[in-house]
Amino acid sequence: MRGEVGAATRVIALLGDPVRHSLSPAMQNRAFSDAGLDAVYVALRCDTADVAGLMRGLARAGGGGNVTLPHKEVAAAALDRPSEAVRSTGACNTFWLEDGKLHGDNTDVEGLRRALLELMGGGIGGARVLLLGAGGAARAALHVLVRDGAREVVIWNRTPERATGLSRRLGERRTRVVESREELHGEGFDLLLNATRLGLDQGDPLPFDPAGGCEVEAVFDLVYRVDETDLVRRSRELGIPARDGREMLVQQGAAAFERWWGRWPRVEVMRDALEAAGDGREG
Ligand code: NAP
Repeated sequence: MRGEVGAATRVIALLGDPVRHSLSPAMQNRAFSDAGLDAVYVALRCDTADVAGLMRGLARAGGGGNVTLPHKEVAAAALDRPSEAVRSTGACNTFWLEDGKLHGDNTDVEGLRRALLELMGGGIGGARVLLLGAGGAARAALHVLVRDGAREVVIWNRTPERATGLSRRLGERRTRVVESREELHGEGFDLLLNATRLGLDQGDPLPFDPAGGCEVEAVFDLVYRVDETDLVRRSRELGIPARDGREMLVQQGAAAFERWWGRWPRVEVMRDALEAAGDGREG
C-alpha cells in the first residue's frame, strides 16, 4: 500500500477456510506498495454460502480477490465471465469486475506454466509426464500439460477412481491411469509432477521415490514449505533437477495482480516478501 489506509483504498480479499496461514497478504501487500497502489490485501475466512455474495460485493465496490480451499468450485459457478482455464478446470482463484460483469480466472494454471518453463527450459511440449494426485491442483496441472502439448501423462492417485475422472474430464486421449507403482517399473519420464498433499507435513512419506525403478529427468513438487520438501531434497541428492511450489505461488500471485491492475508486478519483490514471511501452507 502507498501509505495509510484511507477512504479511497481499494480492498482485495482472499476468501477461504482456513486462511490464517496464507502467505498471499504478505506477498500482495508488498507488491501493491512497490507499485504505488492505494490498495490493501486482506484474508477473510468465510463460509461457502457467503462466497458468491462476497465476490460480487467486493468487485462492485472497486476491489476483487483470490479464492482458496475449499471455495474454488463455488467461486467458478458464481462468475458472469469465466476464463477458459476456469471452464476447463471448474475452479476459480481470482476475480475482478470488468464492464460491470464479474470476471474470474484460475491463475494456478498460469503460475504452474511459468514455473515449469523455468524448470524445463523449453517447456513441456512432447514430454512424458508422471502426474501424482487427482485433486484441484492436479486438475490445474493436467490442464497445462495437455494444452502445452505433453506427449503422454500417466496419472497415479491414491484413489484411482478420482484419477480416472480427472483423465476423462481433461485428458483427451493423452492420459493413462495406473493403479500401482509396479505398473511404472522400467518406464522413463521427462517430468515427475507431485500434485498430492504429501510433503506438506513433517513425517509425510515421499509421494514417490525417483530412485525406485523408473527414470525421471526432472521433478516439480507443487507442495512447498519454508525448507525444501523431502521430494525435492531426495531428487537433488540423485542429481535430478527439482523445484518446489514456491515459484508457482509467486507466479499465480503475479498473474492475479495483472488481472486486478492491468499491469505486471515486479515478481522479485513478491519472491522476497514470500521468503521474509516464512512458513505458510496456502496460496
Ligand atoms: P486436494 O484437492 O485436497 O487433493 C489432495 C490430493 O492429495 C489428492 O490427490 C489426494 O488423494 C492426495 N492425498 C492426500 N493425502 C494423501 C495420502 N496420505 N497419501 C497419498 N495421497 C494423498 O488438494 P489440492 O488443492 O489438489 O492441493 C494439493 C497440494 O498442492 C497441496 O499441498 C497444496 O498446498 C499444493 N498447491 C500448491 C500450489 C502452489 O501455488 N504451489 C497451488 C495449489 C496447490 P485422494 O484423491 O486419494 O484423496
